[in-house]
Amino acid sequence: MAGSLTLRVITPERIAFDQTVEAVRLPGADGQLGILPRHANMIAALDVGLMRYRAGGKEAALFVSGGFCEVRDSTVRVVTEAGERPAEIDEERAREAERRARERLSQGRAQTGEPLDILRAEAALRRALMRLRAREFRSE
Ligand code: ATP
Repeated sequence: MAGSLTLRVITPERIAFDQTVEAVRLPGADGQLGILPRHANMIAALDVGLMRYRAGGKEAALFVSGGFCEVRDSTVRVVTEAGERPAEIDEERAREAERRARERLSQGRAQTGEPLDILRAEAALRRALMRLRAREFRSE
């Protein structure tokens, strides 16, 4: 097919996404990465965030949890710790993760918590907030 990309999202547990798309935008570690068909081959590190893509003329989103992406010959492979479509995200679980992370952050900062624990709590908070943001795209 002219002007399309194969987009695959691979996690330790499953292939979370495998579809032909027209365009994809990824949360690169150094900023947003826009990828269209015939993009140059590349490898880039990813941040936790939303992967946005257009398929069949419609925009949609998927939560991705860091990792990296490889673009080769109009195939985009995303290798990430977790990849979830909006409808797969358990909102209650994400809210609970957000609550726990905020609690750890407020305790940690008050009690000169271990820097590593604070970084972990910040990362968990970011995952939870991004999952909740991804839920907003579930009707698309
Ligand atoms: P939690 O503290 O709730 O486990 P987490 O951010 O630590 O959240 P991850 O380590 O990112 O979880 O993911 C572990 C596994 O659980 C992955 O398979 C991921 O897809 C899944 N997962 C985590 N949170 C959710 C959620 N809110 N809804 C659906 N799946 C989730």
